[in-house]
Amino acid sequence: MRRAIFPGSFDPLTNGHLDIIKRSSPLFDEIVIAVLNNADKNPMFSVEERCEMIREVLPLVETGTCRLMVDSFSGLTADFARQMKATAIVRGIRAVSDYEYELRMALMNRRLEPTIETVFLMAGEEYSYVSSTLMKQVFQLGGRVEGLIPELVEDRMRRKTENGV
Ligand code: ADP
Repeated sequence: MRRAIFPGSFDPLTNGHLDIIKRSSPLFDEIVIAVLNNADKNPMFSVEERCEMIREVLPLVETGTCRLMVDSFSGLTADFARQMKATAIVRGIRAVSDYEYELRMALMNRRLEPTIETVFLMAGEEYSYVSSTLMKQVFQLGGRVEGLIPELVEDRMRRKTENGV
């Protein structure tokens, strides 16, 4: 049984995240999308809302025999990976600018939990500039983000900005 975790803030889920989930699915039997409950950031969506949106979108993703699950965690990613009995941590790399931070995190996680490997997957070219932060900024200024985030996420962003829910 090859289980991986795909940790991140997912505030909110983008098509870039979904691309990494699709690309990693042939490599694992199970992938746990692990939503970080990060108290220092000022998120647009609560962890519960982020998990709910991911759960709604995942059935639309073609992943063959790989099973997808969603969970939230706080604290160290390495601890969560160990608790989940995962053998790998999946991360996406968009540009060289991601690399230095990701390398530091991967080395630290390996020191904390030597049995778990970080697996990097390169972003799809069409999503290599997509980040949750950029999507929120563009959306809040009235720009078009269709095709870059799932429709359901866009609806939730609209509701959030219009009525705060
Ligand atoms: P974090 O705050 O941990 O970086 P994110 O939700 O921003 O959380 O990202 C989670 C993971 O998804 C990271 O490995 C990030 O590099 C990857 N990722 C984010 N956007 C994209 C994208 N457009 N293409 C590929 N990978 C991405």
